[in-house]
Amino acid sequence: MFPRVLAVFSLLIASASAQSVYVLKAARTFDGNSMRQNWAVRVKGDRIEAAGPASSIDSSNAKVIDLGSATLMPGLVEGHSHVLLHAYSETSWNDQVEHEALALRVARATNHLHSTLMAGFTTIRDLGTEGAGYADVGLKEAVNQGIIPGPRMLVVTRAIVATGTYGPKGFVPEWTVPQGGEETSGPDIIRVVRDQISRGADWIKLYGDYRWGPHPGSHPTFSLEEMKMAVATAHDAGVPVAVHTSTPEGMRRAILAGADTIEHGNEGTPEVFKMMVDHHVAFCPTLTAGGGAPRPGQPESPARIRKRESFQAALAAGVTILSGSDVGTFPHGDNARELEAMVDFGMTPVDALKAATSVAGQVLHLDIGTVKPGMFADLIAVDGDPVEQISAIRHVKFVMKAGMIYKQ
Ligand SMILES: [Zn+2]
Repeated sequence: MFPRVLAVFSLLIASASAQSVYVLKAARTFDGNSMRQNWAVRVKGDRIEAAGPASSIDSSNAKVIDLGSATLMPGLVEGHSHVLLHAYSETSWNDQVEHEALALRVARATNHLHSTLMAGFTTIRDLGTEGAGYADVGLKEAVNQGIIPGPRMLVVTRAIVATGTYGPKGFVPEWTVPQGGEETSGPDIIRVVRDQISRGADWIKLYGDYRWGPHPGSHPTFSLEEMKMAVATAHDAGVPVAVHTSTPEGMRRAILAGADTIEHGNEGTPEVFKMMVDHHVAFCPTLTAGGGAPRPGQPESPARIRKRESFQAALAAGVTILSGSDVGTFPHGDNARELEAMVDFGMTPVDALKAATSVAGQVLHLDIGTVKPGMFADLIAVDGDPVEQISAIRHVKFVMKAGMIYKQ
């Protein structure tokens, strides 16, 4: 099956020259903000040239693709992925990091990138290789060179963790065990940030809290001063910073340090979300990390109830929300479950779609997520109307990235 897919992919690549012109038509177009009826989109090369009512779009010299009753929309954005991990239900994080060779992990990742693109996710922000070094930089390059099919990638290389706080852990104290992130403490964090940027990091990822020390639960890791040094160094290079943090204190430090996004925020309070609004920090909630909805008849876990409360507090505060799922902890290609979870937890379908399109484009500083002239021609079509039923985004029948068709 897979060699055949690759053969088809090569054909599609071969048939698309740099300046191919397409006109895409569909019954509905979600333009990144609202649903439009009977629109058409003209694509030239890797960009959208024109978009609007079908009667207003010039189709001369273009290959016209009529998507019929489908919904045309911007390619979806996965704000928080780990393509170098595979589902924990298959292999625990510890076993992946300790027992899976780098080449094995990279080979799996090429399949993960393919699954992600075929699921209609044309951009990912991949937030840490978890022991796989700088492999994300090479994978991104392989996608950009057309060697393997995959989404547009933003990468962070090795997440930055405070000394002694991350994993794998639990060994005899005489052993020093390689970690899933890059350890540092104190002003050395400046060197680490610069080093990662020099090796290809598009974003910097910090762990602002983690399960460490003698007491259960997450506790803050980096001090406010350490975080400020890291953020200021990254921002000097125009590189944004994402901070994994779930505790109110970790979130508070990330906000005051000038972080661009906060990941997870499981224990976020109304006060902390208000601070995020005031400081223009976006929230990537990863609602589906560690398991989705309970089985019918089963009670919800306390963690899920807490997660819903914090997400609703974020909605009430008006925090900018970037859709991101922590995929890799669950199977790649199932990214849609995050949008379903956001709707399940009280977001409107239109806002959930925006969190994975237009808002995502703004948070990630990319020309994506909106159907308008000048944006990258990252466009997908799904059966049905995702504003009526968010699960329609699972029924992807067409995928274009940068003007190139990958699924039709
Ligand atoms: Zn993650």
